[in-house]
Amino acid sequence: MDRTVKVTAAFWSKVRKTKGHWWWGGVVNADGLGLWNEGGAWVEARKVAYARCGGKPEAKLLNTCGRMSCVHPKHMQEMSA
Ligand SMILES: [Zn+2]
Repeated sequence: MDRTVKVTAAFWSKVRKTKGHWWWGGVVNADGLGLWNEGGAWVEARKVAYARCGGKPEAKLLNTCGRMSCVHPKHMQEMSA
């Protein structure tokens, strides 16, 4: 297993997928936003999930479902800069 595959598996092991939302079970910040440590840097978990599911990694995201700990890519809207 290469490193990327391992990291990806570790990432998804923190996500609990339900019919409604994909709940982040890892670290969250003061706002309840899920955080993921990738190579020593903290990144938004929703961004990682979004990028892993085919979205643009650089996109700024807004949780349209209003649940900050949800990382469901379909509940994300790209914000224009
Ligand atoms: Zn959601």
